[in-house]
Amino acid sequence: MDKVMIQQTTIKDCIEFDGIGIHSGKFSKVRLHPANENTGIVFVRNNIKIKAVVENVIDTLNSTSIGDGVNIFRTIEHLMASLYLANIDNVIVEFLVGEEVPIMDGSAFHIFELLSGKEEYQLAPRSYGYLSNFVRVSHKESYIMAKSTHSIEDLHITFEGYFGNVLKTQTHTYQSKLEKPNIQEEIIKARTFCHLRDIEHLKMLGLAKGGSLENSLVLTDTGILNKDGLRHQKEPVSHKILDLIGDLYLAGFRFSANIYSNMGGHNLNIKFLREALKHIKLREATEVIAV
Ligand code: ZN
Repeated sequence: MDKVMIQQTTIKDCIEFDGIGIHSGKFSKVRLHPANENTGIVFVRNNIKIKAVVENVIDTLNSTSIGDGVNIFRTIEHLMASLYLANIDNVIVEFLVGEEVPIMDGSAFHIFELLSGKEEYQLAPRSYGYLSNFVRVSHKESYIMAKSTHSIEDLHITFEGYFGNVLKTQTHTYQSKLEKPNIQEEIIKARTFCHLRDIEHLKMLGLAKGGSLENSLVLTDTGILNKDGLRHQKEPVSHKILDLIGDLYLAGFRFSANIYSNMGGHNLNIKFLREALKHIKLREATEVIAV
């Protein structure tokens, strides 16, 4: 038996995508660039750089946005989750036009497909964050709790929630270590969703201006408004896991933890992250291999 280091990664070439933002309704164009080791994920517009870390989160109302008070990068969670799931550590996210990540089809599918197989290994070791204590945060009925795991790159997320009187309670689990590509695919393909009755309220808040049946799943009291229905039975709960994966990546490293969320949204995800970071030990990753 021998040990090898798990290396950091970037992307081989630039990747571009564009489209409208779900909340602003405005067109954006984004170019991802390769980045040096230990860069992390850095958003850039007109030479202003903002790192995708929890300290820079400035808004969690129905999406996660980072900024510095003047510059803002909105709705970054699906891009963050795509980078996590495509195994990318270091990248510059340049906005050529606009300030909100394009919603695409409402899922992580298109961005993940662009990133797939594009990772390039670098020399520096990757670090993982391990919890030293049990962590729990709550808001009203919702809560997130987490405990440590001791094996490398072992992120285990269970999400449970009530999705209305048609879908009722759904539970789903993501385990990074287990070879279950079908579950990762379910999470990647799961679209943003909302309830029909909430749309007017979202619009009053100035949100969801770009939302449509092309990029959102709309739940009603009697079913699904989208003509083709759900992509798979656990689509809404899978999307909640996608959002949590994206928000967790704002730690600036990958978690090794066992996390349970009961109806957490972006606000609670970020509250959890802030609390969890007080109890984190970073360790460089090595993997035992048979030689
Ligand atoms: Zn989402």
